[in-house]
Amino acid sequence: MKIRYEKYNLKLRHTFTIARESMDVNRVLFITLWDNGSFGTGEASPSERYKDSIDGIIEFIKNYEFKKPIFDNLNNFFEVSEFIKAEFEESPSLRAALETAILDLNCKKMKIPLYRYFGLNPHNTPQTSFTIGIAESEIIRKKVCEAEKYPILKIKMGFENDYRIIETIRQITDKLIRVDANEGWGREEALEKIQWLQAKNVEFVEQPIAAGNYDDVVWLRERVNIPIIADEDCREFSDLFRLSEVYDGINIKFMKCGGPLQAWKMIIAARSLGLKIMLGCMIESSVAISAAAHLTPAVNFADLDGNLLITNDPFTGVKVVNGRLVLPEGPGIGLKRKNL
Ligand code: MG
Repeated sequence: MKIRYEKYNLKLRHTFTIARESMDVNRVLFITLWDNGSFGTGEASPSERYKDSIDGIIEFIKNYEFKKPIFDNLNNFFEVSEFIKAEFEESPSLRAALETAILDLNCKKMKIPLYRYFGLNPHNTPQTSFTIGIAESEIIRKKVCEAEKYPILKIKMGFENDYRIIETIRQITDKLIRVDANEGWGREEALEKIQWLQAKNVEFVEQPIAAGNYDDVVWLRERVNIPIIADEDCREFSDLFRLSEVYDGINIKFMKCGGPLQAWKMIIAARSLGLKIMLGCMIESSVAISAAAHLTPAVNFADLDGNLLITNDPFTGVKVVNGRLVLPEGPGIGLKRKNL
């Protein structure tokens, strides 16, 4: 097995602002695994929020001996994936890139698309939401107009102009909204704002309060009638049982949990625990977004728009048609590299 990596800067169409940070460029790492003439591609989009970074990943890769016997046979990909989880515990995005590349490679060898490996029906993909970051009213207006073809908007809140953002959007459109506060509210503020949002055609609210404050979320849920979804509180499989006692649902992301196989385990467990499931993303190219899209026939909500927010995606894969995710038919993830 050979590993190659490539640093890449994803350029955002608009400055992307959420409750805790703002960015114009997001650094990612593409990873290619070669095995007997076949290759698979993966992507790491690490997040400082989870103490994961590009520099940390490159350190890991440079100092790691990928010649260990376990990597001799990537056909045993479940075994390899569990090994990777133990070896690279600190970097979930590196694990996500490796898992994605290994599955892409194996599905190509089997000549099947990734959704087929999981036994999913490609016609059952959901619509994806399209994210509107925090901004002044004039920019919000422009972004909402640009997002005309997307039927569901995900609105970032958790800032001083929260009410104005929603009012500005509601002057333009009455389409379904999902709200993400990114831990931006205290408990009383969350109650007041969510009660106000209840009359605004809002489907759910994501991570209103800082992660770890489970008692406050329980208190809040007793007082509101919009579902509350865990994002920053939901990292991996071992979080699920506790979260099922606190939240209505969870947001699974490859870059938090460690890739498609880990995400699949979480989907199965979350379904049995009665949690609503969203599959979400960071700012990512079509590599990670398309891989995640292959799993969406098994979830309730998709928020897979990271590739739609950038101007220099070097790959094509999943498409969005009338808001719905349309999976590529090729083997593996079904990626094509563009000539940029
Ligand atoms: Mg979120």
